Amino acid sequence: MKIARAVSRLIEALEKLPGIGPKSAQRLTFYLLHNPQSELDKFSLALSRLKKDTRECMICFNVGEKSPCDICMDKERDQTKICVVEQPLDILAVEKGGFYQGLYHVLGGAISPLNNIGPEELHISDLWPRLKNSKIAELIIATNPNMEGEATAMYIRKILIDKGLNNKIQITRIGRGLPVGADLEYADEMTLNRAFEGRREF
Ligand SMILES: [Zn+2]
Repeated sequence: MKIARAVSRLIEALEKLPGIGPKSAQRLTFYLLHNPQSELDKFSLALSRLKKDTRECMICFNVGEKSPCDICMDKERDQTKICVVEQPLDILAVEKGGFYQGLYHVLGGAISPLNNIGPEELHISDLWPRLKNSKIAELIIATNPNMEGEATAMYIRKILIDKGLNNKIQITRIGRGLPVGADLEYADEMTLNRAFEGRREF
């Protein structure tokens, strides 16, 4: 049976998304086909504006509407703490809890030799200028509690000590309550809150 080109084109596009197999792609495509044109127009507008209307923050590498982002520009926030996370989604998870008022630094992933991701591929070196000659007194390393996240935390700690920054900056690591191998973005607020409160010298 020949499939209309518009249909197969969308199936192919959806298949490229993570977690979507051929069957799901087909189902989604036919689901969309039964929506009114106005809904599809809204959907495609949101998609085409996704990248155009967002900026990567030049300071913390979070995704925002402008650069520097709202969090970096907010003088009400605690300027003595930086929380290091792997992805912008992790910031969303922490912010939802409302228990943390400091600043962030998004690495853009974690060190993973198996996937050829070394420290140079991440925003690690961008961290040092933020720590030097600043009011930062605590660096909270909130990378995921899995192998890559731990390796990344240890690497950051080592460089910080090599640079002698540990004299004025306390390094802490969140942990307690987070299941090993878990992803920060999937942790519930309570667990995340406990993990922050229970952070320890690292
Ligand atoms: Zn920012």
